[in-house]
Amino acid sequence: MSDLTEKKPVRHLLGLSGGKDSSALAIYIRDKYPEIHEKMEYFFSDTGAELPETLDFINELEKYLRKPIIRLNPVKDFKFYLKLNGNILPTAKMRWCTNNLKIKPFEEFVGNDDAITYVGIRADEPQRQGYISTKPNISARYPFIEDGKDINDIRNILRDSGVDLPAYYEWRSRSGCYFCFFQRKEEWVGLYERHPDLYEEAMSYEDFHKAHGRSHTWSDGERLEHLKLPERIAEIKEATRLRKIQETSKLKKNLMERNCESADELGCLACHL
Ligand code: SF4
Repeated sequence: MSDLTEKKPVRHLLGLSGGKDSSALAIYIRDKYPEIHEKMEYFFSDTGAELPETLDFINELEKYLRKPIIRLNPVKDFKFYLKLNGNILPTAKMRWCTNNLKIKPFEEFVGNDDAITYVGIRADEPQRQGYISTKPNISARYPFIEDGKDINDIRNILRDSGVDLPAYYEWRSRSGCYFCFFQRKEEWVGLYERHPDLYEEAMSYEDFHKAHGRSHTWSDGERLEHLKLPERIAEIKEATRLRKIQETSKLKKNLMERNCESADELGCLACHL
């Protein structure tokens, strides 16, 4: 008979966003720390508005990990919470979506158990803020910082495993909902060109607001109806091209100043901007 006063073992948790850092961390843990991988609970908070590329990527990653990735939010998705929030769409200032679709499901999943959550912040970005729980039973570990792993290491981990980068990186810089308001204009163009059906759906949310006498634009100060006009798309693409040239030359200058010893480093960073 088990002792009812016996303390439950600490849980080890790793949340996958479908982005490169958390995915590389899962691969790294599996390969470098098999004893932790053994105990690890991998999970993915599905908002119900994920890109198809993200869902495909999570399936691929699951095969590599050879462990199930637990899907949170199977029922209470974005549409459910939109209704609950009086059909008011989330914005960068009113971000009810992250709280309801990511943080709460995670905290419910952990409950009162003692848990360690593994976060994919890298050694070259210590200033980045991950989600830090205020719950006293949840503590965080940062294996990439502990082991001094930077962006190049992360790329190598993904490439060497054969999992590689999620396909959306060809046109978008981060994972998340297809209508995420943090997207750049050129990413909206990417959505329009790759997933016109999802773009239309994002437009329908703006239309719904308009029909109810409210104004909402997912993208700063511009309705999606306008953003998809051919002349506007050409304008956005040209602005993006110029910005990338500027960023690349700034990066090269910085690397020269750092007296970069490795030509590989320069090539790799410049190519992936
Ligand atoms: S990805 Fe964007 S829209 Fe989706 S929950 Fe996160 S902040 Fe909100």
